[in-house]
Amino acid sequence: MKMQAAVMSKLGEPLEIRTVDLAEPKATEVLVKIKATGVCHSDLNAFEDATTPTPSILGHEGAGIVEKVGSAVTGVVPGDHVALNWVPYCGTCEYCAAGTPNLCESAFGPMFDGTLLDGTSRLSIDGEQAYHYSLLSTFAEYTVVPEKSCVKIPKEMPFAEASLIGCGVSTGYNAAVRAAGVTPGSTVAIFGIGGVGVNAIQGARIAGAEKIIACDIKPDNLELAKQFGATHAVNSLDPDIIEQIQALSSGLGVNFAIDCSGNTVATETAWKATRKGGTTVVVGAFHPSKQVALPAGGFHRVAKVLRGSFYGDSQPFRDFPILAQLYLDGKLNLDHLVLRKIKLEQINEAFADFHDCNAVNVGRTVIEFD
Ligand SMILES: [Zn+2]
Ligand SMILES: [Zn+2]
Repeated sequence: MKMQAAVMSKLGEPLEIRTVDLAEPKATEVLVKIKATGVCHSDLNAFEDATTPTPSILGHEGAGIVEKVGSAVTGVVPGDHVALNWVPYCGTCEYCAAGTPNLCESAFGPMFDGTLLDGTSRLSIDGEQAYHYSLLSTFAEYTVVPEKSCVKIPKEMPFAEASLIGCGVSTGYNAAVRAAGVTPGSTVAIFGIGGVGVNAIQGARIAGAEKIIACDIKPDNLELAKQFGATHAVNSLDPDIIEQIQALSSGLGVNFAIDCSGNTVATETAWKATRKGGTTVVVGAFHPSKQVALPAGGFHRVAKVLRGSFYGDSQPFRDFPILAQLYLDGKLNLDHLVLRKIKLEQINEAFADFHDCNAVNVGRTVIEFD
């Protein structure tokens, strides 16, 4: 079929709205009509990354309606509303068998190659192959994705809000609820108040934390954190940040610290601000060259846990419907994450906003389709 899509033809050049050919879904794939897609910082990174194959169609935060399914698809039928997951899994490897599909590695080769799971593309332009992005390519009217990327959501769920569930919302919320295991009445510090951090705050709030301390270098982000449930805010540039956090948590430090910042200084602070027996979760991504330095003296005595979490330990088929229901029940604030809604033709404005506006670090511009 032919469709309109925002095409990245050359590195760093504005995206172009072009007619793209989309092939039929194969046996385990699904054709989805995109209704809304968030514009995420990872799309901007790909847009500016010389390793992104071109021409490609970016976009990895999407929601839409199933239009057609491959012959072996059992999980969805045409007409189902779905939120898309950019970490599809194989279901058979040791990680999947152990109940940790977020650690499955089957998607990463195709993700970097710009293909679907079988190593081929469904996209072409004027007869030349085009590339997928994160197996989703949501900056388009339609997309073909793996069945394992299609998570059914309630039909009452609005598409703009649904489109955000699959990335920062699930990562942040589940970093608090699943990876850290925040408990009722506990104290929690969240480092890095961006699209992931505000949702870690929401996860801690919904899990019943008593004190949620937002830590960031930007005063605007700290103010915004309160909209999502932070009870206190501390500027990460303050030299006495650890003492401030301890003062808010019985002098002992927090039960749980969640670092969403991607900054190793924050990781070290998060560890030091965690009380004995507590848990520090690192969900932010670092450049591979970075090192984290932790005080080794007394390491055994403090009995703390330091653990990384990929995708917030999200299991999309378990967690996306929970997040949608929390939104529909008025408990999860997604409305304030949708900063503005635009048409596909305006997509370059959304990319320009990343360079202009601090607030876009937290919320999203969402592209809506008719
Ligand atoms: Zn994203
Ligand atoms: Zn697997």
